[in-house]
Amino acid sequence: MKIRFLLMKVKKPPYLASRHAIIPFSHAVVSQRYFVFIVQTYHSPLLMKAHMLTVKNLNKTYTDGTHALKNITLTFPTGMVGLLGPNGAGKSTLMRTLACLQPPDSGTVLFDGIDIVAHPNALRSQLGYLPQSFGVYPHLSCRQLLKHIASLKKVDKNKVDAQISSLLSLTNLTAVANKAVTQFSGGMRQRFGIAQALLGNPKLIILDEPTAGLDPLERQRLHSLLVKISKQTLVLLSTHIVEDIENLCGHAAIIMHGEIVDSGEIPNLIAPLQGKIWESSLQPPCGMLVSESYHFGKDVWRVYHHEAPCSEAISRDATLEDRYFYELNKEQC
Ligand code: ADP
Ligand code: MG
Repeated sequence: MKIRFLLMKVKKPPYLASRHAIIPFSHAVVSQRYFVFIVQTYHSPLLMKAHMLTVKNLNKTYTDGTHALKNITLTFPTGMVGLLGPNGAGKSTLMRTLACLQPPDSGTVLFDGIDIVAHPNALRSQLGYLPQSFGVYPHLSCRQLLKHIASLKKVDKNKVDAQISSLLSLTNLTAVANKAVTQFSGGMRQRFGIAQALLGNPKLIILDEPTAGLDPLERQRLHSLLVKISKQTLVLLSTHIVEDIENLCGHAAIIMHGEIVDSGEIPNLIAPLQGKIWESSLQPPCGMLVSESYHFGKDVWRVYHHEAPCSEAISRDATLEDRYFYELNKEQC
């Protein structure tokens, strides 16, 4: 911890400055308009360097002619960012491309200003990647496998044991560290996947469908782990589960058929639908159907319409799920 002195010209003592973690645990008035702050500087998320991933005009066509990424342009800020799309939308293709595992046909990817398509090695040392599915060596324990991956990632040998212990504790795997990963449950396996992705303190973490196949409790545990991690890093998470994004991300991109439909802060993604979502227990005669679900065995129809579609329709706040289903259903209209 460092102690510093700051002279600030302010009318009122500021209690938090945005770019520096300033905690005015003590201040003295020097003149009527100046305050001296003794500021406590420590490694808090506010002091972490903000990382930025920028993707421009990215294209990828597989050899069989599938145009999986169509001119993708996106900017991701630090924190947890969601990539939401149905199966086959191009999420894994984009994730693999950003992880430098396959080159795009055209386009640029900048991470903190470095062109990682031209210089993939510049990113590899700063990257943590959890593929959608991964195999493990059958006879290695969780700890042995982490050690092996750490050596592949060239983690400093003097620091590796301490880092593995802290990651095992973070992912709640300490008690099973000597068990073979092949014997792990789905949730434990995913947490192992996160632990290996975090080896070497990466600045960019790419997680392809990390919650797939998990039961609700395992998903909840994984969510709280991801929230912890994303305070300091850029975590890019792909999923087709809207709830994952709503729970975890402030920022998201919706991808369909290899194209970005929209991206930005979640409230901005929802805004176009606000005031136009109606719910009814009877099928409304007009409006675009967003979803048909059931509540205690009764029909719940949600429609998008500029006014109430029928007398018994109730206006509802729009959600990210409405926006997602709206985009999915729009294609079928
Ligand atoms: P998602 O992860 O959103 O389900 P993918 O990126 O896996 O989507 O796939 C996007 C499209 O690219 C799909 O049509 C898929 O069939 C196709 N695709 C993915 N990988 C390959 C590949 N190696 N060769 C040919 N087509 C592929
Ligand atoms: Mg996928």
